Parts: sequence; structure tokens; C-alpha cells
Amino acid sequence: VSVFANISQAPEDPILGVTVAYNKDSSPHKLNLGVGAYRTEEGKPLVLDVVRRAEKLLVSDISLKKEYLPITGLADFNKSSAKLILGSDSPAIQENRVATVQCLSGTGSLRVGAEFLKKHYNQHTIYIPSPTWGNHPKIFMMAGLSVKTYRYYDPATRGLDFEGLQQDLSAATSGSIVLLHACAHNPTGVDPTLDQWEHIRKLMRSKGLLPFFDSAYQGFASGSLDADAQSVRMFVADGGECLAAQSYAKNMGLYGERIGALSIVLTSADVARKVESQLKLVIRPMYSSPPIHGASIVATILNDREMYHDWTVELKAMADRIISMRKQLYDAMCAKGTPGDWSHIIKQIGMFTFTGLNPEQVAFMTSEYHVYMTSDGRISMAGLSSSKVTHLSDAMHAAVT
Ligand code: PLP
Repeated sequence: VSVFANISQAPEDPILGVTVAYNKDSSPHKLNLGVGAYRTEEGKPLVLDVVRRAEKLLVSDISLKKEYLPITGLADFNKSSAKLILGSDSPAIQENRVATVQCLSGTGSLRVGAEFLKKHYNQHTIYIPSPTWGNHPKIFMMAGLSVKTYRYYDPATRGLDFEGLQQDLSAATSGSIVLLHACAHNPTGVDPTLDQWEHIRKLMRSKGLLPFFDSAYQGFASGSLDADAQSVRMFVADGGECLAAQSYAKNMGLYGERIGALSIVLTSADVARKVESQLKLVIRPMYSSPPIHGASIVATILNDREMYHDWTVELKAMADRIISMRKQLYDAMCAKGTPGDWSHIIKQIGMFTFTGLNPEQVAFMTSEYHVYMTSDGRISMAGLSSSKVTHLSDAMHAAVT
């Protein structure tokens, strides 16, 4: 008999569980809009051409070793990652006020940041948007932070609840941490305008709230790396401090390589050095040092002018395909005359559309049409293709009529 005989069966992860259910479905019409991974028009996973080229270079370079990286990761990768998110001409980088460490994709970057804050910051409350990516509350709770929410999404307008957001952040205890999605808010696809970001910045700075940006979709939302980093750069331009977790899962298609970075922008080079030394103490007992392959791919691409350019072209093509899927789905709903206003499909941005469908309607679409998505009605536009738009709009039409 096992010493774990009394253990209970844990539920599937609400997001990854959608794919488990999808894989069990034998229907030829099945459609997986649950997982946030890019698919081609043919419904296939995509490895970027520029990633293949970088990998070929790496494999043929016999001087490359498989030695351990430093605790903080690959130095070239860290430098280029900070430039990518903050801008290559960022004064914070020039003044050596940024501590950057390579981490295990976006999730690992958030977790390392959270553990650091728990140990070295005097406020342990983090405000996250309602709703947000399902893993956020768990990451921060596991690190020992206390999680509260601020209003973000207004179901009535299927847009930003800007009033509610401002009220909740105004009422937050001074010094609290605030998680902000840098762009392409997941799951709602609703981002503040630049004007609204400026209000949020002023409000947060006036209250001494500490911004923690989650940047999982830079370049994926608009197709422009710079446009999608505007929110972060506004907060850095005022000279104040912030944290930023970057992921290369989506924008370089490096999902399984688990490659990302945590940057902490500080007010002086002296503090940045000390912060980096403490980040090492956080990382060492967790996983000692990060993996080398993904970091080498990213550093190769970011440090070669031609490959960098080719990456931006491939990235824009992914973003454009997603935007085109929004248009095709919206047009199909209009053509059918499905009751309700569906313009949010084209107004929202990034990988996901927050359809407004309720859990019963989602369950109906899955059982009757073999369309899989999370129960909050979120669909991945990256999982859709032109040939599936009719099937999806049929399912949505049937679910609401
Ligand atoms: N943050 C948000 C908002 C996300 O949507 C995701 C991925 O779905 C992540 C972070 C982290 O992903 P990863 O750990 O694969 O980089």
C-alpha cells in the first residue's frame, strides 16, 4: 500500500485541460480554440524560419559548449532582452539601472519576480486585473504574496472598465504591487488606450504603487514590437521603478524552450547591482541556472541585424493572420445576422477574443459542434483558420439563438 494512498485526484488545469478533452474527441470537425499557441492557416504549429536558421548556426558552431550558464543566464540574451522591451535607446539601460535575469519563459519570470518581492519589498499585496490569465493568482500566492483584484473588464461594453480600474487603484494601499498586462490583455483582448495608460501611470506614481508588467505578447498584438511596448516604456520614461516579465513563447514561437527574462528597472546602478545579486539568491535554490538553447537562439536573432529584421517580418505575418481571422469571423456573424453586437471581435486585440458566451453556451458548442474553448468564452484567434470560420460561426449562432 502506498504512503500516498489517501491522495485525491487533482482537477485538470482549466486551460490545458481543454486540449486534453479535445484530443479525446474523434470528430473530424473538431476545433481547438482553447490553447494560446499560434497555428498556421493549415492548423499546424509554426517554427519560424529565422529560428530554424539560428538553430542551424548554433548546431554547426563546434566552439559552443554545453556548460552551465551563470545563475543569471546568458549575458548577451539579457542585454538584448532589456533593449527589446525598454527600447534600444533607453536611458535606464545606458545608466545601468536595469537588472535583467534569464528565466523560464514568462511564467518563470513572474515567479522569480514574485519571490524577489516577497523577500525584499515591504508591501506584499499584489493587485491583478479581473479577469486575468488563470495562472497569475496561483503564481503570486505560491510566492507568498497576498492577491487582490482591480476592476478591468466591463461585460456590458465588452471593453475596459476604466472608471472601476481607477477607483480600485486609488483605493489600494500605498506601495502595493500592481500587475499590468503590457499589451494584448489575456483573456479579454482589451487594452487601455495610450491616453488611458497615461492616466494609469500618473495615478500609480502619485500613490507609489509598484508596476509589475507581464509582457507575453510583444509584437503579437499590433505586429509592431515598439507599439506593443509603449505601456512599459511610458512608466520607465518617468524615471520610476518597475518590473517586467518577458516571454519569447509567442513572439518567437519558442513555447517549449521556456525562454524569457525578468527585468527590474531601478533608480541607480548601485541598487541595480545589489538587486541582481539578490536575484541570484532567489534563483540558485529554485533551479540553479537556466537552460542554454532557447537563450542562444534568441540572442543570435536579436544580435544579427538581418535576422532581427526577418523576425519582425515573420512576427507581423502572425499578427496579421490573427487580425484577419477577427475580420473573417466578424463578417461571418454579420452575414448570418446573429443577434447581438459582435464588433468586439474586431475591436479586441492579441491572441484571444472574449466572446461574451456563457459557460452553458460554451458547453453547447463543445457537445454539439466539437468546438473547444475555456468556459469563460475565450477563443484563441490563433487557433482559427479561414476554412473553419463557417463552422465556428455556425456554432456561435446556434449557441445564442
Ligand atoms: N502571461 C500571460 C498573460 C500569458 O497569456 C502567458 C501565456 O499564456 C504567460 C504569461 C506565460 O507564458 P509562458 O510561461 O509560456 O511564457
